[in-house]
Amino acid sequence: MVEAAGLRRVLSVASECVPLIKTGGLADIAGALPSAMAAQGWDMRVLMPAYPGMLDRIAEAAEVWSHPDLFGGPARILAGMAGTAPAEVPMLLLDAPHLFDRPGGPYLGTDGRDHPDNPERFAALSWVAAEIAAEGLSDGWRPELVHAHDWQGALAPVYLRYRGIACASVLTIHNIAFQGLTGAHRLHGLRLPEQAFWDGTLEYYGQISMLKAGLIAADRITTVSPNYARELLRPDFGMGLEGVIASRAGAMVGILNGIDTQVWNPEADPRIIPFNARTLKLKAQNRDRLREDFGLTHVPGPLAVVVSRMSWQKGLDLLPEVVDGFVARGGGLAVLGAGDAAISVALAGVVARYPGRVALRTGYDETLPHRMFAGGDAVLVPSRFEPCGLTQMYGLRYGAVPVVSAVGGLADTVIHANRVALDAGCATGVVFPQVDATGLSQALDQLCDLYAEPAVFRAMQRAGMKQDMGWRRSAAAYARLYEDIAR
Ligand code: ADP
Repeated sequence: MVEAAGLRRVLSVASECVPLIKTGGLADIAGALPSAMAAQGWDMRVLMPAYPGMLDRIAEAAEVWSHPDLFGGPARILAGMAGTAPAEVPMLLLDAPHLFDRPGGPYLGTDGRDHPDNPERFAALSWVAAEIAAEGLSDGWRPELVHAHDWQGALAPVYLRYRGIACASVLTIHNIAFQGLTGAHRLHGLRLPEQAFWDGTLEYYGQISMLKAGLIAADRITTVSPNYARELLRPDFGMGLEGVIASRAGAMVGILNGIDTQVWNPEADPRIIPFNARTLKLKAQNRDRLREDFGLTHVPGPLAVVVSRMSWQKGLDLLPEVVDGFVARGGGLAVLGAGDAAISVALAGVVARYPGRVALRTGYDETLPHRMFAGGDAVLVPSRFEPCGLTQMYGLRYGAVPVVSAVGGLADTVIHANRVALDAGCATGVVFPQVDATGLSQALDQLCDLYAEPAVFRAMQRAGMKQDMGWRRSAAAYARLYEDIAR
């Protein structure tokens, strides 16, 4: 990997990163930040586990670190570039087969349950981050700052603190629902001192909370939207950590995620029939293709899409309750989702009721979302909580009007179509405050009303497509934060 001349150095610590592996939005962010931060004068490398098959996917890999005993086995780091220019990501892949080379996903085994040693696996990742901060890599690269993500990276600031390593740290919360909770008996196995438990850093109701510890030890905390930063202070969103967040409120800031505007560019997307705000009528061809893809034969009203993990968070369990009214008004629905089997069974029931109008694909697909946003008239995101959310932004960019609950980053990125916003030409979607079946069906009714006025609907699509959702502004905010604390 070539040393980026004149740039300052930051180590990003993430459990997943595009283009190598993705289970959710964290991977998109971890993969997009390095090039965004390079434009701000920061050389960011991403430390991530080498899950199966990953070592073959980085170019010109070179060993830059090794250790004979990383939490029970030998480990090394291979540095190299992942992906293709201009979206290449400088990766540091932590090759520790005893921890990461196994069947299943990054977090779950083939039985769908957490890998039992997840605390140790990701503690090891964080421990290595602190090692790199202390000693540097064999190619001479040493970070001025560690930027850790979620509970899997949260112990990095903790190791920095308890090992007395002079390196600044930032911890970003992508989703506070996942906290890395584990039994106190694992303390020594995690190579943490007892003091860290008794001084209240690690301890959470008698257990160890890796996320809490990171929140206390990090120099700064960020989360992925200003609204989620405010919500985290409330018991209904803080998930038991609201007190800790409140105690660190002065160190916390919400920085909205951007999206990769090269990958998500309707004008030059090879997976769709390209279009832009001026050639919006080409969206109709994408809509036809999408209907074919999903076998949706009869959709006279708005065609709504959903691309989502299937979980309680995402509110998809509300869809079966609202679909009758939506279909009655001519609406159609195409869902792509993976996760909770109970939700997909319920949705499959809806598909059986409305063949040709509602369709479901389960599983994970990289191409289909592009075709769905390009062909969809609307994208539904009825989340109960949503730290930032990416699919509403992809929808905005591809002229699929977002219908979103008024939580987290959804409220920060979509401008509700009330009379004032519509008259001012800045409305971009429907934002509903009441996250239940009544709230969602009212929102879908409004979508149908708006869709019935093509000029109004087109104006909303265009306003959304013009919205700046690139990384520049957010990267500048991270750069200001880094400059404040880097030592
Ligand atoms: P979260 O991280 O909570 O899952 P986000 O909206 O922040 O939610 O990010 C989800 C990301 O994963 C988006 O890039 C979305 O397009 C993608 N995604 C979700 N489900 C699927 C799926 N079944 N197939 C392909 N991509 C998906």
